[in-house]
Amino acid sequence: MVFKLKDTQTGLHELNPIKDNTLKIYTCGPTVYNYISIGNLRTYIASDVLKKCLLYVGYKIEDVMNITDVGHLVTDSDTGEDKLDKKARSEGKSAYEIADFYTKYFYSSIDKVNVRLPQVISKATDNIDKQIEIIQILDKKGLVYKTDTGVYFDVSKIKDYEKLLGQDIDKQKIASREDVKIDTTKKNQADFRLWQTEYPNHEMQWDSPWGRGFPGWHIECAAIVNKFLGNHIDIHTGGYDLIFPHHFNEKLISESAFDSKFVNFWVHSGLLLVEGEKMSKSLENIYTIEDIESKGFDPLSLRYLFLTSHYSTKLNFTFSSLQSAQNALFRIYNFIKLNKSLFDKDKKVSLEYKNKFEEKIKNNVDSPGMIDVLWQVIKDKNLDTSSKITTILDFDRVLSLDLHKYLLTEEVPEDISNMLLERKEYRDNKEWNEADNLRIKIEDRGYIVIDLKDNTFVIEK
Ligand SMILES: [Zn+2]
Repeated sequence: MVFKLKDTQTGLHELNPIKDNTLKIYTCGPTVYNYISIGNLRTYIASDVLKKCLLYVGYKIEDVMNITDVGHLVTDSDTGEDKLDKKARSEGKSAYEIADFYTKYFYSSIDKVNVRLPQVISKATDNIDKQIEIIQILDKKGLVYKTDTGVYFDVSKIKDYEKLLGQDIDKQKIASREDVKIDTTKKNQADFRLWQTEYPNHEMQWDSPWGRGFPGWHIECAAIVNKFLGNHIDIHTGGYDLIFPHHFNEKLISESAFDSKFVNFWVHSGLLLVEGEKMSKSLENIYTIEDIESKGFDPLSLRYLFLTSHYSTKLNFTFSSLQSAQNALFRIYNFIKLNKSLFDKDKKVSLEYKNKFEEKIKNNVDSPGMIDVLWQVIKDKNLDTSSKITTILDFDRVLSLDLHKYLLTEEVPEDISNMLLERKEYRDNKEWNEADNLRIKIEDRGYIVIDLKDNTFVIEK
């Protein structure tokens, strides 16, 4: 199988797992001091689609995501205050309460757009030991220095640092900017903080060999990747805005500490504009999924809209494009609703279209192409309706637009849904005979049991 995936820096390459058939994937999670916006959601949906594509074509995955609940600093030069701490003070709450509240909000938002949770989700505050351990490794190698404000990574110790920065990175970002506090204790302007001791009133503090303080942002992801996935991983995802300095510095930390290549593929999703503008507080155009719902949209219309453009491109969100996406999605739902009596659970997925769909997947996760294949299936005059439904339900393992819901019989009696739950347990435990007996019982009551790869439901006979 040739699966082509684009690495942000080096372009399209064939994906070959480091070990066996399993891909190790890390996603930069949210900084939980604010409501996540639809811009953030685009990034998580992109990672979700990528992972479901990999599963669809037969890979296994091990995936991890962090929750940044400390140490995300207010400026991108990695100096200044911690955003969480600042927010806690402004709201008169504890930093832990703030983190907890916005973490829950994050979970409920990604759930609404069918983003599957990674197998491991780990908080920065649960990994302080690992972060200290890595700083100690760097310290032993002579790559850090301590000042009155904290511990810094010394970029002048990195051979070819300038060359590593490459052409793509805007060097202006490293140089001083008006809104960035100049840190005069640094040796080089590009040095970044690994441990911060400057704020004695910061609520979240831990002891370390360099004094009481809290970690910087880049060390956090380096530590969580290393703890759960090891020195070298297959894929690292995140928004384009994390390319520099966050991912660049995360890589610098990891490769320096562990003398190993860090990531095979960096996969970054593109910028989301709103009605042609960058999202900003002053323009009041930072929308959440709740804002979308309150304007009468189904959250999955947003997922459909994002699927219709490639994850790596810049996308201009407008409410009229969301309306068109919703109209298209509802047409698919209607197609299933109108034809559900023709659905035959023994019909096979159309192989011709499945192959086409897989081609799109393996071509750098071409989601607009996948949506296009879905519509080709619906419009095909030579394919029978039942095969059409079976085929697009199969595609929905990747697209996750809840297509199966529209086959469901509304109001399934409680004892039937209980039997389904019980049967799921049997199936999970591979007790096939018991599961089969229950299926027969359910069918005797006048329902047909449909087992999809990730889902089971019933329809009336
Ligand atoms: Zn990160």
